Amino acid sequence: MSEKLLEGYKRFKEGYYAQNREKIRELAQDQRPSYVLITCCDARLEPSRIFDTEPGDLFVIRNVANLVPPYEVEGSYHGTSAALQYAITVLEAPEIIVLGHSRCGGIRSLVLDPDKMEKDSFISRWMSIVAPVAKLADPDKLNDPKTFSQCEQAAIGFSLRNLLTYPWIASRVAAGTLQINGWHYNIYSGALKKVHDQDTISTIVEASDDASAD
Ligand SMILES: [Zn+2]
Repeated sequence: MSEKLLEGYKRFKEGYYAQNREKIRELAQDQRPSYVLITCCDARLEPSRIFDTEPGDLFVIRNVANLVPPYEVEGSYHGTSAALQYAITVLEAPEIIVLGHSRCGGIRSLVLDPDKMEKDSFISRWMSIVAPVAKLADPDKLNDPKTFSQCEQAAIGFSLRNLLTYPWIASRVAAGTLQINGWHYNIYSGALKKVHDQDTISTIVEASDDASAD
């Protein structure tokens, strides 16, 4: 099965690597990425292909549904938070982008089965970060891709808001040395859309209020 990968590696080593040997060896000394990209594990997303970037440009953090958990200092193991801390406080990357996408399996399962997801599963625990997003979906419009797109974009808004709960992110944003943005990529059409977090956040807050009123 892995033969396809090894054949690809051979082409890379003899092609791209050979043609860019000096640049790659220089990069081996240090990394100074311009962007921290938080995106989904989805196999159909290829960030360096979508943005036509070079090695060293993107510091990529991948997890299910491209979520950012809220800042917390106790609890369990924090893979995403640890990667963020390294990228921001050590590498001093100047921009964070949360890149969501259409047809996201994580968001879809949250919307379709918010109660049926196994309570002790890693996925349901992780997706609970954006639990109110499920309330945005109109049950009569679950065949409409726009329903899920709205939830995916709302989840991006949630993550943008959670980013600001990290003190070393909030202080840099306030000082103007760090930018944060949210984008939604359509894996079918190739369209890329900026997520206006303020609109999204107000929608989420209303949805959360509705949820607590239930
Ligand atoms: Zn996804």
